[in-house]
Amino acid sequence: MDDATVRRRLEGMLQELDRSISVLTGDGTDLRDGSAADGGAHLSDSDRTRAMLDVAARQRAAVLAALKRLEDGRYGRCIDCGGTVPEGRLEARPEAARCVQCQARAERRRR
Ligand SMILES: [Zn+2]
Repeated sequence: MDDATVRRRLEGMLQELDRSISVLTGDGTDLRDGSAADGGAHLSDSDRTRAMLDVAARQRAAVLAALKRLEDGRYGRCIDCGGTVPEGRLEARPEAARCVQCQARAERRRR
């Protein structure tokens, strides 16, 4: 993938995430002015909503970081070992910051 394609995909992901985040946070006037038809559903689902927000926020940070790397000319390099992140992995996950091995290690570390 060339830089322009990567940027377009990342920016598309960012837009989608922003939209989901604003839906999840109820970032609309409809909730605040009390006219929301599904206001109760938001409350009973609050744990699930929080979990989804958490995932979306983390994903958003990863996409932003990838855009930054693209700008710095470091895109496609593993942030841990500096090796090349395989093209196929970037196609599937354009925001991937690590090669497969380092990602597995990082996830083990987090648990
Ligand atoms: Zn690596």
